[in-house]
Formats: sequence, C-alpha cells, structure tokens
Amino acid sequence: MTKIIDGKAISAQIKEELKEKVAKLKTEGIEVTLAVIQVGCDPASSVYVRNKKRACEEIGIRSLAFELEEDTTERELLNLVEELNGRDDVNGILVQLPLPGHIEEEKVLNAIHPSKDVDGFHPQNVGALCIGKAGFVSCTPAGIIQLLKRSGVEIAGKECVVVGRSNIVGKPMALLLLRENATVTVAHSRTIDLREVTKRADILVVAVGKPKMITAEYVKDGAVVIDVGIHRNENNKLCGDVDYDDVAQKCSAITPVPGGVGPMTIAMLMNNCVESVSLQRRQ
Ligand code: NDP
Repeated sequence: MTKIIDGKAISAQIKEELKEKVAKLKTEGIEVTLAVIQVGCDPASSVYVRNKKRACEEIGIRSLAFELEEDTTERELLNLVEELNGRDDVNGILVQLPLPGHIEEEKVLNAIHPSKDVDGFHPQNVGALCIGKAGFVSCTPAGIIQLLKRSGVEIAGKECVVVGRSNIVGKPMALLLLRENATVTVAHSRTIDLREVTKRADILVVAVGKPKMITAEYVKDGAVVIDVGIHRNENNKLCGDVDYDDVAQKCSAITPVPGGVGPMTIAMLMNNCVESVSLQRRQ
C-alpha cells in the first residue's frame, strides 16, 4: 500500500522539539528573535508572513514585524537590514519575497549577514552547503530531507532525480541529497526525454512549477515521490506538480498537497532561527 508522507505530523513533531530548545535557551537568558520584513502588501506575501509569525508564537520565538510601504526605497530597506545585522537581540532576518520591482532582490538578500540569513539564500551559505561546511540551508529542501529521514526512507546509495534547478529548491535539494550519499540527477526544461530520466528515480523530487505535470508514466514502480509544487486548480483547490491520484497508485510513498512539503518549509525556518543562536555564538 502506498504510504502517504504526512508533512503536517512531521512538522508538528519538529516544532515540539524546537519548543523545548527555545525554552532551554530562555533559561540561559537568550530570547530567540526573528525579524520579518515585508515591503508593500501583496496578499500572498501577507499570508506567508502571518503564518511565519504564528509559527514563531507557537514555538516561543519572538518575532519583530517590519511592514514597510510599497514605495520604500532600496536604500531605506538596505539601511534597515544593516541596522538589524548590528542588533545583538536579533538572531534571524527574513525579507519576504517578492520585493517591489524598483528594489533589486539580490542586493537586499546579499546584504543580510550570513549568520542571520535564516532563509539560506546568501551566497556564503549556498557555498557552505556546496563544500559541506556549517551554514543555513534553504528551508524547503532542508524540510524534504527531514520528511524522508523521519519517514524511514533510506537515501544513501539511491538514484535520486530532482526536476527543477531553481536556486531556492532544485539546486540546494540536489546538493543535500548528494550530502546524504545519493546518486543525483538534476532535470530541467532543457532535459531531453524527461520521462526516461525520471523513471530511473528511486526518489523523485518534483519542483517544476507546473500543475499535475508528473503523471504515472514518469514514475518507476515503487518510487518515493516528493511534490514541491503548489497551485490552485480550476476548482480553486490546492494541487501540486504531481498528478497525485495517478501517481499514488504506482509509487511506494508520496507527499500530498496540501500537507506534504508545505508545512515543512515553515518548520525548517523555525529550526534555522534556533540554529542561528549557535552559529552566532561561534563567531
Ligand atoms: P522555478 O520556476 O524557479 O523553477 C522551476 C524549474 O523547473 C526550473 O529549473 C525549470 O527549468 C524547470 N522546468 C520548467 N518546466 C519544465 C519542464 N517542462 N520540464 C522540466 N523542467 C522544467 O520554481 P521554484 O523552484 O521556485 O518552485 C517550484 C514549485 O515549487 C512551484 O510550484 C512553487 O510554487 C513551489 N514551491 C513550494 C514551496 C513549498 O514550501 N511547498 C516552496 C518553494 C516553491 P529551467 O531552469 O530550465 O527554466
């Protein structure tokens, strides 16, 4: 029978563990603090920011909200990031994306001090992941490794195929699987015969951004399928990059949408906030 990998339950377990760590840090006089910056009021971003604040509350992390006007200049935003970099009472800094068009995202993300970059987007953290050094890892792929491990899926020695090569999902995912000793292939829009490639996978991670693109014919019998995609279908219901009903019959385990990868992303953000305390202690 196909196992449904329950991201909701696993993320709740991680949050419980983090709650204990945060409480212990409090007894040592450390209040873990995340600064969340939002520029403008894009409705989707507001939902993400609200969920992050709620997760902080649940775990006991202090969150500071900086809600800036849409017409905030790049300089003003950079000044705020610099101020937060210098504050000893702020452990993590998160700038909610997308930023308005007049602000260069890369410049802002690179301005966050690597030891406070809880999203794991700073080139120094990406480089650290690449060469196996300590640093923050992008939350979604880090969450997928936790999903696999906590569901008892062996990674070492497995054929893993990642569909998608974005900087925030596909590429760090491939590096993490490599770190776990898998044999990794990364597929993308220029891959010739995607189906032949994905059918080699014991573990297939799909981060393609195309609703229900991966059907059973892309999947090997008994594979583990991780669906990163998140979309609204024609009936306004959430669906992933994987055609769940079709693929679930063929694979050994699968993540649902919603309730699979999504909840793990926030749990790993919270984990990075807690980790930031020890990273900053080492500096
Ligand atoms: P991007 O759009 O940045 O990247 C998509 C990748 O898929 C690209 O590398 C692209 O290739 C590749 N691709 C596109 N079309 C095809 C195709 N026909 N065949 C093979 N490869 C293709 O997306 P993200 O990585 O940011 O996100 C992917 C999905 O995951 C989205 O649905 C997003 O909403 C979701 N997501 C969910 C999160 C969660 O917490 N659950 C977090 C982050 C993202 P190329 O590089 O050649 O263009």
